[in-house]
Amino acid sequence: MEVVIIALVVLASFFLVMKLLFTKKHTEEVAYTYSLAEEERGYLIEYVPFYNELDEAGKQEFESRLQHFLNTTRISGVNVTVEPLDRVLVAASAIIPIFGFKDWEYINLNEVLLYPDAFNDTFDQQGADRSTLGVVGNGPYQNIMILSQYDLRQGFLNKSGKSNTAIHEFVHLVDKTDGAVDGVPEALLSRKYVMPWLELVHENIERIQQNNSDINPYGATNKAEFLAVVAEYFFERPDLLQERHPDLYELLAKMFRQEPAHTLSTPPAPNGKGSAAEARQNFEQGTRSEE
Ligand SMILES: [Zn+2]
Repeated sequence: MEVVIIALVVLASFFLVMKLLFTKKHTEEVAYTYSLAEEERGYLIEYVPFYNELDEAGKQEFESRLQHFLNTTRISGVNVTVEPLDRVLVAASAIIPIFGFKDWEYINLNEVLLYPDAFNDTFDQQGADRSTLGVVGNGPYQNIMILSQYDLRQGFLNKSGKSNTAIHEFVHLVDKTDGAVDGVPEALLSRKYVMPWLELVHENIERIQQNNSDINPYGATNKAEFLAVVAEYFFERPDLLQERHPDLYELLAKMFRQEPAHTLSTPPAPNGKGSAAEARQNFEQGTRSEE
């Protein structure tokens, strides 16, 4: 009899432990409502217009996805200290392009490395010929993204510009989901839009080459760079893109399943932080490029 009771107690304990374990796991999976620290929310409010223009439910979702990204991606500094602001800006740049895809996970990213400033082809942080602001790694750098901390911050400090280095790199990662960084993100673009997209790409690259476009000339490098550059424009100044390039805007809205021109208001007047002069200066740093 005693043996039976002991066996029952052991069995009951076993089920209790299993239940606790399962419940914990289950809770982790469904409780997607992490709340941000006040400091982190403050950075979103101050630097990320995309977040500010969302309604309350949208903000909550953005925060949850941002926190999830931070919980699953390492962000490390190389000769630089990673500040809480940097973590928030990296994560915001990751979430903005895929915010229209509710269950998106960056399967091809483990770690983001921050360098203090621009670097060169061999990742040197010193010397001349340092024109790279960000890169999505290949080979030994597979699943790693490198960003210049200075340019990560500039992309968000300058609220009226059309550039954002970190968004640029995350769009390359999204493009890479189908295996190739080729400017045709098959994970996003349904088949029927591929040809119209390619036509628009060729047409606009030609205009850039003829010096007849307000799109960053770096976009004429190839189709992949065109997508990344024009996506920066789409998320940073959707109002302007829609006005000047309605066909591009429309196709990008289908691609990213978002209509930022409907939610993002026109940036502040050209005074102080984020001024037009600052934006021009940023744009004219022509030799600085993302890869
Ligand atoms: Zn690029």
